[in-house]
Amino acid sequence: MAEKQTDEKKAVLPAKSDFSEWYNELLMVGEIMDVRYPVKGLYVWFPFGFEVRKLTYAVIRELLDKDHKEALFPLLIPETEFMKEAEHIKGFENEVYWVTRGGKNELDVKLALRPTSETAIYPMYKIWVRSHADLPIKIYQIVNTFRYETKHTRPLIRLREITSFKEAHTVHATWDEAALQVKEAVRIYQEFYRRLAIPTVVSKRPDWDKFPGADYTMAVDTLMPDNKTLQVGTAHHLADNFAKTFDIKYEDIKGEQKYAHQTCYGISERSIAALISVHGDDKGLVFPPEVAPVQVVIIPILFGKSDEITRACRAAAERLRAEGIRGALDESDERPGAKYYKWEMKGVPLRVEIGPRDLKNNAATVVRRDTGAKESVPLDNIAGEIKNRFENIRRSLFERAERSMRERIFGCSTLEEVKDKIQEGIARIPWCGERECGLVMENEVGAGILGVPEGELGRGAGTCPVCGKGTELMAIMAKTY
Ligand code: ZN
Repeated sequence: MAEKQTDEKKAVLPAKSDFSEWYNELLMVGEIMDVRYPVKGLYVWFPFGFEVRKLTYAVIRELLDKDHKEALFPLLIPETEFMKEAEHIKGFENEVYWVTRGGKNELDVKLALRPTSETAIYPMYKIWVRSHADLPIKIYQIVNTFRYETKHTRPLIRLREITSFKEAHTVHATWDEAALQVKEAVRIYQEFYRRLAIPTVVSKRPDWDKFPGADYTMAVDTLMPDNKTLQVGTAHHLADNFAKTFDIKYEDIKGEQKYAHQTCYGISERSIAALISVHGDDKGLVFPPEVAPVQVVIIPILFGKSDEITRACRAAAERLRAEGIRGALDESDERPGAKYYKWEMKGVPLRVEIGPRDLKNNAATVVRRDTGAKESVPLDNIAGEIKNRFENIRRSLFERAERSMRERIFGCSTLEEVKDKIQEGIARIPWCGERECGLVMENEVGAGILGVPEGELGRGAGTCPVCGKGTELMAIMAKTY
């Protein structure tokens, strides 16, 4: 018989306090992404990581499908369309990949690999939009986009191929209706992140940091373990800027031709970077049950003769399956300790152990991944007991993450303080709202203004650190990804 003790795997994951190392290593050992693809900024989804992606994107699909339609537009955009919107070009021209040849032939019109799809979609909207009765249009697609990033690339966070860009593009009759849609988009994103148990801050980006071609941009940020913020969603009010460029007009009730008003909003695999980073720990991945590829693992605790335990474990696995719970039964030859380690790394929210003592009580021991808490539950109702714990786990992950974020938001009154506090998280400081002052603030601090957040966080009383004017607006500043 093989001696198992010596080849049992030892933890290879660096401590989470060493965030950057931890993150890179976890993507590999947790089998999320393989970073060894031979093109800079392009990465490979492992099947396990792709399962996480599938489950996560099922949530956003569910939320959007209530009143959006999913569609699919081409990857290639003719230069003639791409170059139409001046601001938009300025914002993206340094990042665009161009296809210039087909086989041996030079193309007459260069084709851009979409860095985002406004210029692919809006020529079609010009054809589709005719009358007020066609509006609103709410369409989204989930696609890959390409950006020639010159900054340091990082899996799931800064990519040259964004593999999972969910972009929605809506068309409305009026500016006000489009503004309401921007609000709705932000609400959907907050709901999405609540489902992932990730706390967010919503703010209106400063004018100089908005989407190229937009009237304004709302952004959703979360705070990463290394105290930098990660932008995990944006919603843009495009007004009629693109409609004028692409000639998207509708006939209103009085028979007059009017330019439409538009919005677009997106999230990407950064949502999964946040999911992994916010919840993971020294032992590996931690997932809320809804997006965990394996929600429960059953581990038989065998001593000598074990037919009875094996039978009980298989019966429990069958019960979980019948209830639609994603379960795994680990009947491998490894010792229980090695199995615990392996499934903890994978972020399985609940572990079920069944040993002789459990069986004598017709029970199982249930252990939570997030807290380590152990409970004995009746085997007869194992599926119900498991299901009941799912929402509690999500909620406690969210509360823990939110507490951690709140503790790292600091009220400041001088730029010196801001400089100091952005090392530890988000700095909150009075701002008069003027561009000139904002740019000075960014310059002196060496970090960006995320914006004036929605809700209490963005309200207060103080004086702008640059011009000294009294203000009730509070801006937040942070180091960002
Ligand atoms: Zn000022």
